[in-house]
Amino acid sequence: MNVRILKNLINGVWSEPSAGARMDIHNPSTGEVIADAPASSKEDIDLAVSAARHAFSAGDWPLVKPYERGQMLLRVAEMIRENKESLALLETLDTGKPISQGRADVEAAARYFEFYGGAADKIHGETIPIEPGVLDYTLREPVGVTAHIIPWNYPLQVASRSCAAALATGNTVVMKPAEQTPLTAVELGMILQQAGVPDGVVNLVLGEGHTAGARLAGHPDVNHITFTGSVPTGTEVMKAAAENIVPVTLELGGKSPNIVFPDASQDEAVEWVVKSIIQNAGQTCSAGSRLLVHADCKASFVEKVIHRMNHLSMGPGESDPDIGPILSEQQCRRIETFMKKVEADGGKFLLGGTRAYVSNAPGGCYFKPTVIDGLRPESEIAREEVFGPVLSVFAFETDEEAADLANSTEYGLVTGIWTKDVSRAHKLAEKVKAGQIFINNYGAGGGIQMPFGGYGKSGFGREKGLEALRNYTQLKNIALKI
Ligand code: NAD
Repeated sequence: MNVRILKNLINGVWSEPSAGARMDIHNPSTGEVIADAPASSKEDIDLAVSAARHAFSAGDWPLVKPYERGQMLLRVAEMIRENKESLALLETLDTGKPISQGRADVEAAARYFEFYGGAADKIHGETIPIEPGVLDYTLREPVGVTAHIIPWNYPLQVASRSCAAALATGNTVVMKPAEQTPLTAVELGMILQQAGVPDGVVNLVLGEGHTAGARLAGHPDVNHITFTGSVPTGTEVMKAAAENIVPVTLELGGKSPNIVFPDASQDEAVEWVVKSIIQNAGQTCSAGSRLLVHADCKASFVEKVIHRMNHLSMGPGESDPDIGPILSEQQCRRIETFMKKVEADGGKFLLGGTRAYVSNAPGGCYFKPTVIDGLRPESEIAREEVFGPVLSVFAFETDEEAADLANSTEYGLVTGIWTKDVSRAHKLAEKVKAGQIFINNYGAGGGIQMPFGGYGKSGFGREKGLEALRNYTQLKNIALKI
């Protein structure tokens, strides 16, 4: 593959970074350099924010009828689908994820633009009865310039979900993709331009977190920040935003459990437990990284999980394996650091625990699917996000124990509950502190319409669904004495 030369999109112009610095982008499957991207500076962010401000305050964007704005977003969805295969391949080359997962991400991206395109002319205020002779009503107004800081694990999906919601509500956008994975964001920028989104409405600045990201988070002329990424960076973003009293929506990590009871359909639960931890090689915020299984079925269930994991394929994303590479050597070392602590934390490996060598992709970093039993629930690895295909198993006997174990980390993103007893499932769903609970499934239908976000250190605010529109609008109350 030729090395792609990427540029920033500022005020409708594809431009070089002002200081000229650039960085290599690698294919995680092979380690090859596949692109050369701007390593933008503070000045580039300033230019992008000022373009977005101009497009919001002086440009045509706020004057576009909501229906027409929606039509534009529907066109974006259509164009994403027309380019499905090439976008999926780019996402796979950039992230290493299996191509079928790349295709699913592209479809999700199209659905976000479709969903929010359809919502664009259905966002409105209400009238409030005060007293005779007073007409009180609310207006739901766009917030203005919105900043979007994107992670490397689902670059196109995450960029699309917040960008589509922000545009549908009449805001302008400055987006900074993760430094490791900017390829599909650049394609999305081109599609948005071709779909007729006016210059300056969407600006794209490629660069590193500590420079471009930090400036965007701390920029005084930004009106809302949507951040998806790790807890430490989320903390920095919140601090920077606090300096300017700018609201933030934080989608952070997780340590999500699947809770399995003996009466559940065991084979179906096994399939989803495995799928939820190997998807994107476990580098998923909502990965099902803990298995809480009833003591009565633990032995047989875990045996089935291991049997299934022993039959998974591994290789470069383009070959569509079950498990692709870990993003980088650095991420792989991070997983290994966790693995070194397993025995000291009371755990033993039932499977994996080390890197895998993939003969046709020796330049990539791969990690074996791993199952660990016996960890102390309070140990670091039982509570922290490993971000690899690593499943920790815990047994419980009562529903209370299951709920306590589920709630024993500082995160609270997703929980899967597997039982045929619907009353038990409902009661447990009420006790578990997580933003999304799935009963007898995990991630139903891709969840475009469902509000998504965390409890505790998984963040706050909700993305996806109609709920996300609140992030990008502010409410004005008007009282008229007639
Ligand atoms: P990260 O926090 O390292 O980086 C995320 C983004 O923040 C990148 O664009 C990065 O350049 C930028 N950044 C880094 N330092 C910054 C700073 N000081 N100021 C502003 N921006 C800065 O996270 P990552 O490693 O890219 O992604 C993995 C993490 O994201 C995991 O913890 C995962 O769980 C989480 N994640 C959450 C969701 C969700 O929706 N909850 C989705 C995907 C990923």
